[in-house]
Amino acid sequence: MNIIYLDNNATTRVAPEVIEEMLPYLENFYGNPSSMYSFAEKAALKLEEARSKAASLLGATPEEIIFTSCGSESDSTAIQAAITSDPYKKHIITTRVEHPAVKNLCEHLSKNGYRVTFVPVDGQGNLDLDYFYKNLTDDTAIVSIMWANNETGVIFPIEEIVEAVKKKGIVFHTDAVQAVGKIPIDMKKAEIDMLSLSGHKLHAPKGVGVLYVRKGTKFSPFLIGGHQEHGRRGGTENVASIAALGKAAELAAANMEEENTRVKALRDKLENGLLKAIPNAAVNGEKENRLPNTTSIGFEYVEGEAILLMMNELNICASSGSACTSGSLEPSHVLRAMGVPFTSAHGSIRFSLSVYNTDEEIDFVIKKLPPIIETLRKMSPFWKG
Ligand code: PLP
Repeated sequence: MNIIYLDNNATTRVAPEVIEEMLPYLENFYGNPSSMYSFAEKAALKLEEARSKAASLLGATPEEIIFTSCGSESDSTAIQAAITSDPYKKHIITTRVEHPAVKNLCEHLSKNGYRVTFVPVDGQGNLDLDYFYKNLTDDTAIVSIMWANNETGVIFPIEEIVEAVKKKGIVFHTDAVQAVGKIPIDMKKAEIDMLSLSGHKLHAPKGVGVLYVRKGTKFSPFLIGGHQEHGRRGGTENVASIAALGKAAELAAANMEEENTRVKALRDKLENGLLKAIPNAAVNGEKENRLPNTTSIGFEYVEGEAILLMMNELNICASSGSACTSGSLEPSHVLRAMGVPFTSAHGSIRFSLSVYNTDEEIDFVIKKLPPIIETLRKMSPFWKG
């Protein structure tokens, strides 16, 4: 079956080179990396090789890399580490457009003794920086702000923000799950204390992530157990997946140029092609300062889910801008925070590309989507076109 996969911000295809890298650690070298014999040493050495590769992608040192099970675990660990390390500080700053991995934890903490400031965004998805700066206080335990938004691709000025945060001596964490591998990130350039990334957004398998912790940052483990990861995360390491992540990090660095040229050009072609062919459609969010692979387009007077179902018939995969909660189709919290009108938020589709997409696939979508929207609009009582 020929799948046109345009949902790479949800998850990515595991790269063939990555599968090749992990197989020996499933089939042959299955030793526990903590064991003393040389058979297990192969696994331990691979672990350290992967750590160096992940560090290299971030401009970090290997000791600053902790392997986790996913981006969500990395986010949770960072926030919980900051608040347990400084238990007298009771204020957290984050944004209104974070992924649920951060948003739901912060909402949970707001019901459990913490005051949380959720910084708003404007209609283009850009942060209200004045509001943010005004809310930094001596009581702030951590600022957690995503590097790039998973729905719109809008990039936040992390390096600028971190400077203000560090001047006040506050811990800074960024959820860079969508940014890593798509835009250059260098821990030497900004004093970020902690950063999260996830393997499955980078052509590694699901179930492996990284938490970067800058040397000297106060830290306490979230997963308390064995001495693994230098006592910073208990649990026998997932060697094959960590090997995969190391390889994926290496490939991401090698593919960064293509991501920002060929993939970006394909994204622009898709976006321009659809906007030209379909009336009453607009991009959600800032167009310039955006991940090269992402576009979120609102098609007025249609339901995103209906579009997805009809695209599914043609084996085209993308995401809608709605969250199907308790039977009611609510537009996503990100589009709501941006004030995208309901008529457009309901019909928003996120397309997210990768280096595996081709020109032919984009031509196919540009040809097939306009008649889908037209058909659906004809059924809509609100469409007066
Ligand atoms: N943060 C962002 C911005 C994401 O897009 C995602 C996944 O979609 C996550 C965190 C969670 O990552 P994981 O699925 O590895 O837990």
